[in-house]
Amino acid sequence: MYRFFVVALLAWFPCVSNADLNVFTCEPEWSALTAELGGDLVEVYSATTALQDPHYIQARPSLIAKVRQADLVICSGAQLEIGWLPALLRKANNRDVLPGSDGYMEASSFVVRVDATGNVDRAKGDIHPQGNPHVQTNPHNIAAVARAIASRLASLDQVNSDSYGENLERFLASWNAAIDRWEEQAASLRGKKAITHHKSWVYLLLWLGIEEVANLEAIPGLPPTAAHLGKLTSEFSDGGADVIVRAPYQHEKPSDWLSERTGIKAVVLPLTVGGTEAATDLYSLFDDIIARLNGVMNDG
Ligand SMILES: [Zn+2]
Repeated sequence: MYRFFVVALLAWFPCVSNADLNVFTCEPEWSALTAELGGDLVEVYSATTALQDPHYIQARPSLIAKVRQADLVICSGAQLEIGWLPALLRKANNRDVLPGSDGYMEASSFVVRVDATGNVDRAKGDIHPQGNPHVQTNPHNIAAVARAIASRLASLDQVNSDSYGENLERFLASWNAAIDRWEEQAASLRGKKAITHHKSWVYLLLWLGIEEVANLEAIPGLPPTAAHLGKLTSEFSDGGADVIVRAPYQHEKPSDWLSERTGIKAVVLPLTVGGTEAATDLYSLFDDIIARLNGVMNDG
């Protein structure tokens, strides 16, 4: 009987993951961070890649299946995923990960969000009335969210809580050292002025002391219009900005068009892990962002 039981177990084990927790994230940065904190104890899956616009994706059946299997769902929140996450959660019908349960986290609720408008009129564009959700572009925010994720992993998987605590301490030590390095490398960017495609970069720019002087989108979340680009051309033809920034999934045409007419250099920055070839993890994400900004603004 005993022997039969062991054989049965051995036969069964290869089919399941060895990880203790299945973690579904809406964006790649939270998968990357959870993997840093959970190591082999977690299996992570991201609903979006860095080359997709996280505001707009389809609630595909494969995503519904992943949410159904999840022990924890981590999303940026602040309505970034309002167009697709509610449908995913409803169709997955997994009560462990519904908002309000221990299996659901909104990363942006653990940082100080900027630009809350309270305006809920979606017709005026994707305006993020609860504040800007693109919090991952400031590494201090990543550290704050890391603490929250580690403590949630520990409470969901109490047998391994010491491991999550140790992983967090190790991560924060190396992450804080990296922040010091990035701040040194970016020192000369302080006081520069940026035009951005969407308001995806407010936390990065605040962190580095770069002023956001305009957006290519006249209405947040809606494509840049010819009239608005024309206005920006006359406004910035004699300077007033040092760089035009866009994410990899945003069309290059508007920023290239404005760049050609104003002479202001345009640059693509990875908005998350996987956004460029160099940005393969959270560390190289910020290495690449700062290298690219230095490349366009400090080459003379
Ligand atoms: Zn947005």
